[in-house]
Amino acid sequence: MQVVAGVDLGGTAINYTLVNRQGQFLIAGLCEHPALSKQGPEVCLQQIADGLKIASDKAGVLLSDVLAVGLDTPGPASAGGQFSARGSTNFVHPRWAGFDIREGLAHKLGKPVSYLNDANAAALWGHYSIFGAGSRETSISVVIGTGNGGGIILEGIVVKSKNGFGGELGHVLIPYQSIAGTAGIKPLCNCGRTGDLESLCSLTGIERNILPHFLPRYPGHELAKLDPHEAAKLVRGLADKGDPLCKEVFRVQAHALGLFFDEMINTFDPDALIVGGGALEASQDFQHWFLAEIRAGMPTQREEQAGIPIHVMPNGDTAGARGAALEALKLVQM
Ligand SMILES: [Zn+2]
Repeated sequence: MQVVAGVDLGGTAINYTLVNRQGQFLIAGLCEHPALSKQGPEVCLQQIADGLKIASDKAGVLLSDVLAVGLDTPGPASAGGQFSARGSTNFVHPRWAGFDIREGLAHKLGKPVSYLNDANAAALWGHYSIFGAGSRETSISVVIGTGNGGGIILEGIVVKSKNGFGGELGHVLIPYQSIAGTAGIKPLCNCGRTGDLESLCSLTGIERNILPHFLPRYPGHELAKLDPHEAAKLVRGLADKGDPLCKEVFRVQAHALGLFFDEMINTFDPDALIVGGGALEASQDFQHWFLAEIRAGMPTQREEQAGIPIHVMPNGDTAGARGAALEALKLVQM
């Protein structure tokens, strides 16, 4: 059996998947191996190779049947897989600065390797989960986690662009002042901007911006007693249970996303909008409520635009590996 592998390299763990030429995934859930990225490229590349053998064994395929490998990592990195010379939060060892990880892994494994940043890989998976292989549709994906990642699939192709910042949607500014209940908020992002998508639609945005804005309006709320970092992590679970403050936090996120999607609709005229990440790892009721709030947060759409569907990205924790594998499939499909 001939397959390609998807390798999702994070700061601490590597997640693997395998997919055959028909686009069937051979590993159902998470298949993880420690990344040891703090020990630098040599150790980490060996970890990737060792973990790939384990994943192949698990799926019942020979390592020699893995024709190509799709790699994804957090950025910043070039479209071709070279880490920024200024370093990266997840890859702190000095030898990572400017390291070409795509080339390094291809050399290590002796196989062709494709590269995507983690958000673009997730976006490619989200797109495939709706449209299947060989699609010429356009989709916009937003992944809400600690930060905010996203991706644009334009007529079936991942938008990467020359510096690798294509589809870096989290730092696009949105007119947040129009969201009800946010008068006086000044949402700062790590990147230095005020009022971009990540400043509101991320766990960090909840901790630094939305929760501090709403907490004083709910005297005696249980989250007020906690450290802000710990409190932020509890917001989704409480919102899912119907806590009014926490639902208000997610309403603001959803409306921010509605404003953002409106910008994307007017730029790309997409076939689908996709939302994924930890924010949506909740009950189906919560997911439906959140999607309805995104829609409610959009300015009035033209009739043909109002019908663009909003989907929840499935298999969230394996999205990166799956998207990376789909990209690698292109290396072996003639
Ligand atoms: Zn930003």
